[in-house]
Amino acid sequence: MEHISDSHTAFLSPSGRFNISSRILIVDSSPSARAMITRSFERAAALIQCDACGSATEALQHLEKQHYDLVTTSVMLPDMDGLELCRKIREDSKTHLIPVIIISGNADERLLREGFSAGVTDYFDKTRGHGELVCFISNYLERTFGAAHRVLLVEDSPTVATVIRNMLQKQGMHVVHLANAEEAFNLLKELQNSEDTAEQFDIVVTDFHLEDQMTGGDLLSAIRTQLQKSPQELPVLVMTGNDGIEQQVEFFTAGANDYIVKPAVEQVLVARIKSLVLIRQQYLTLERQKQQMELLSLTDNLTGTFNRRYLSTHGISLATNRDSLPMAVMILDIDHFKSVNDTRGHMSGDKVLINVGQALRQNVPADAVTIRYGGEEFCILLPGVGQQQAEPICETLRNKVKQMDTEGISVTLSIGLSEIDAQGVPDLETALNKADVALYSAKKSGRDRVVVASPS
Ligand code: GH3
Ligand code: MG
Ligand code: MG
Ligand code: MG
Repeated sequence: MEHISDSHTAFLSPSGRFNISSRILIVDSSPSARAMITRSFERAAALIQCDACGSATEALQHLEKQHYDLVTTSVMLPDMDGLELCRKIREDSKTHLIPVIIISGNADERLLREGFSAGVTDYFDKTRGHGELVCFISNYLERTFGAAHRVLLVEDSPTVATVIRNMLQKQGMHVVHLANAEEAFNLLKELQNSEDTAEQFDIVVTDFHLEDQMTGGDLLSAIRTQLQKSPQELPVLVMTGNDGIEQQVEFFTAGANDYIVKPAVEQVLVARIKSLVLIRQQYLTLERQKQQMELLSLTDNLTGTFNRRYLSTHGISLATNRDSLPMAVMILDIDHFKSVNDTRGHMSGDKVLINVGQALRQNVPADAVTIRYGGEEFCILLPGVGQQQAEPICETLRNKVKQMDTEGISVTLSIGLSEIDAQGVPDLETALNKADVALYSAKKSGRDRVVVASPS
C-alpha cells in the first residue's frame, strides 16, 4: 500500500496531459521558421527544450556535444539535404537511435522511398502548422518515452540474424539477438520481475522453426500462457519459410500478432514492427491513464491524502488481510477548527488542512494509509501495528501538528485510537466506531490528547 506522494501527481500537467521533459534539435535553413517553431514549443510544451540551427554541419556539431531525444529537419539545407543528415545520424553509434522527423511540404513517393533507406523515422507535413507540429512531436516523445524500440530477435541462423539486425538498427531500433528460444524465454521471464520499464522489449520477432528443443511456436505459447502477456502488451511477429494454411492457423492459435515470410522484405518487416509497436504504446498509454484516473478518484484533492472511497475499498481489504493484522485504527480531529475559519477565513482554514494532511503523511510508517475522513477529520490505518505500539505514533502526530505554524495559526489534534486484532476482530466499521467514541472522550476531557479505546 502506498501513499500518494507528490511525485505521483507531478507528471500530470494542468491539462491532464502526460509531459516528459526532453530536448529536441530543430534543423531548418529559414531563421524565421526556426524562431516560430521554437516559440510554439516554448508556449505549448514547456518541458520540451528546443535547440535550433540552420545547417546539417551545425546540427552534427550540436549532436556531438549534447544528447537529443529527437531531431526534426527540413528537406532543403544549405550544405546537404535532410536525408543525408539523417544518414549521418544513423551512421554514428552515438546518435543512431535518435528519431529523425522530416518536416516537408510535400512528402512524395520518392522522398518516402529514399527516406526509408536513410532511416527516417517519420514525416510531418508542414502545411498542418506549428501548433500541430508541437502536438505531433509531444505525442511522439510520449509514445517512445525517450526509448528506441527494443526488439528481441530470436533466430538460429547467424546470417539471417545479421541481415535483420541491420535492417532494424538502420531504423534506430535497439536489437537484442538470441539464437535460442529457451534463453529468450528466460530473459523475458527475468524482465517480468524487473521494475525498469526502459529494459522491457517492445516486440519479439521470432523464427517459428528453431532447431532446438523449444521452438519459436513454443516460445510464443509460453509468452501468452506462462508469462500471461497479451498481444497488445508484448506483440510477437513470427518469421516463417512456410505460410501454408495450416501453418498460419498454427501461428495465430499460438498467439502471434502477425507473420512475415522469409526472406524478409525490409520495408514490410519494418512497417509491421512499427505498426505492432504503435499498438503496444497506445495500449500502455491507456493503461497508464487508467491508473492515474484510479489514483485520482481515490485522492482527496485538497490535502493529497486518500479519500473516503479508498477506505471503503482498499481499507476493507487491508482490514481482512491476515498479513496486515493487527492493524491500528485512528481518527484524528482538529480542535476548534471552526474558529480558524471564523477568525481567519476559509482560505487560511484550507491551508491549515493541507499542512495537517502533509504532517500526518510525513510522520507515519511507509505502509500507513492516511485518509481524509470528513471535513477536518482524518483517519489513519497502520498495518502490522497493534494498539499499544501505535500510541507513541499518535503522540508524535499530535506533537508535530501542535508545533506547526500556518500563517501564524496553530492548531491541536484530538485522537481516538482502536485496533483490529490478529484474528481480524472487530471488523473495520466497528473499529472505526470505537476510535470515534475514544475521540469523543478526548474532546470531552479537554482536547489536544490521545485516548485509547477500551478493550471490548
Ligand atoms: P471540535 O474541537 O469539537 O472538533 O470543534 P470544531 O470547530 O473543529 O468542529 P466542528 O465540527 O464544529 O467544525 C468543523 C469545521 O470544519 C466546520 C467546517 O466549516 C470546517 N471545514 C470542514 N471542511 C472544511 C474545508 O474543506 N475547508 C475549511 N476551510 N473548513 C472546513
Ligand atoms: Mg467536530
Ligand atoms: Mg474539529
Ligand atoms: Mg469534526
